[in-house]
Amino acid sequence: MEFRKLGKTGKEVSVIGLGCEHLDRKPYAQVEETVNAVLEYGVNIFDVFMPGMEIRENIAKALGNRRDKVMIQGHIGASDVNQQYDISRDMPTVKKYFENLLRIFGGHIDFGMLFFIDTEKNYNDIFETEFVKYAEHLKKQGDISHIGFSSHNPEMAIKAINTGIPEMLMFSVNPAFDMLPSTEYVFDHFDNGFTPELLTGIDPKRAELYKLCEQKQVGITVMKTYGAGKLLSKDHTPFDKPMTVPQCINYALSRPGVSCILPGCQTAAEVHDTMRYFETTAEERNYTEVVFSGKNDFKGSCVYCSHCQPCPVEIDIAAVTKLLDIANLDRDNVPPSIKSHYQNLAHKGDECIKCGHCEERCPFSVPIIQNMADAAELL
Ligand code: SF4
Ligand code: SF4
Repeated sequence: MEFRKLGKTGKEVSVIGLGCEHLDRKPYAQVEETVNAVLEYGVNIFDVFMPGMEIRENIAKALGNRRDKVMIQGHIGASDVNQQYDISRDMPTVKKYFENLLRIFGGHIDFGMLFFIDTEKNYNDIFETEFVKYAEHLKKQGDISHIGFSSHNPEMAIKAINTGIPEMLMFSVNPAFDMLPSTEYVFDHFDNGFTPELLTGIDPKRAELYKLCEQKQVGITVMKTYGAGKLLSKDHTPFDKPMTVPQCINYALSRPGVSCILPGCQTAAEVHDTMRYFETTAEERNYTEVVFSGKNDFKGSCVYCSHCQPCPVEIDIAAVTKLLDIANLDRDNVPPSIKSHYQNLAHKGDECIKCGHCEERCPFSVPIIQNMADAAELL
C-alpha cells in the first residue's frame, strides 16, 4: 500500500480506501470478507455515509477490535427518514443519526463530513445555520477529529473551502466529470448518459478547485472514480473505448490535492482486482490515449499524466508542473507548503539539461523546458 497525507489534517491515508456504500443491504458474511480483504492490503480509511443502522453495525462488527486500524469518514446530515439516502438539515434528526454513528464506531469519528453541498441552498442550510456550529462543537468535544464536506459541484466546493472551516473534501473525480462544463450537473449525466460532444477539455472550475485544494492543503478523498462504472463499460463510455480500472485510479490520483480514492468494492474478489493497480506498469496506467486522443483543447496545459517520463536527470516533471501551476494561481503569494513540497523533491527544475526528450513525448505540447526554468525561479 502507498500512503499520502490528507492535506492539513496531517493524517496519512492509504491511496486506496473503501467506499462502503455498496455493502449496504448485503449479508453480514459479505461485509466481513470485504472488510477483512481491504485490511489485509493496509487500507486505513473507510467512507461510511449510509444512514442505515444495520450496515453501520455490520461494518463495526467486521472491524471488531481493529477499529483503530481505520479512519472513518462519517457524514453529518445523512439520514433515511424519507428515502434510502436522505439529506437532512433538521437538527434533531441530524444529531440523532450522527450520534448513532458515533456510538456504533466507539464514540469517535475521524472525519465528520458536512453532507452534500451541491447547491446554494445546501451551502446556506449548512454554513448559515446551527448545522456548522454543531460540527464545530463535535470537533471541540473531540467526537470528531476533523471537519470535512462532500460535494459534486466545483463552484459550491470552492465556496465551502473559502469559509476556511473544512479541512478536507470528498469529491467526485474522473475524466468525464472533469470535462463536463461546471454548468452541467453530474447526476443528470449519470441518469441519461454522458454527451461526448460536451467533453472537449478540462472544465476550468474543476481545475481551479483541485489547485485551490492543494494550495490551501484541503485534502481530497475521491468518490465516483469509475463514473459509477460507466467509464469501464464499452456501451456507456463517452470516450472512443472504455477505460481500465488502473487508468481510472491513476487519473484520480494524479489530480492536484487528491490523497486517496474510495472505490465501492463489495466482495473480496473486487478488492483483489482493485489492488492489482499496484502491480501495473506506468504504460498500463496511462490514460492519455483513451481520454485525450483527438482532442486539441489540452494543447499547452499539463494533465499530469507523466507520459513525458523518463527524464535523464530524474525530474518528476508532472510533480514539478503541478506545483508550478498552483504557484501560478498567485505568483506573489506562493504558499510556504508549496515551496517546501518543491524543495523536498529529489530532483528540481534547475537540474533540467534541456535535452528535449520530454517535449517530444508530451502529447499536449506542454513547454516543459520553460516550465522547469519557471519552477526553479519561482519555487
Ligand atoms: S508535461 Fe505533458 S506528458 Fe508530462 S505530465 Fe504534463 S501533460 Fe503529461
Ligand atoms: S528537457 Fe529537462 S525535464 Fe525534459 S527530459 Fe530533458 S532534462 Fe528532463
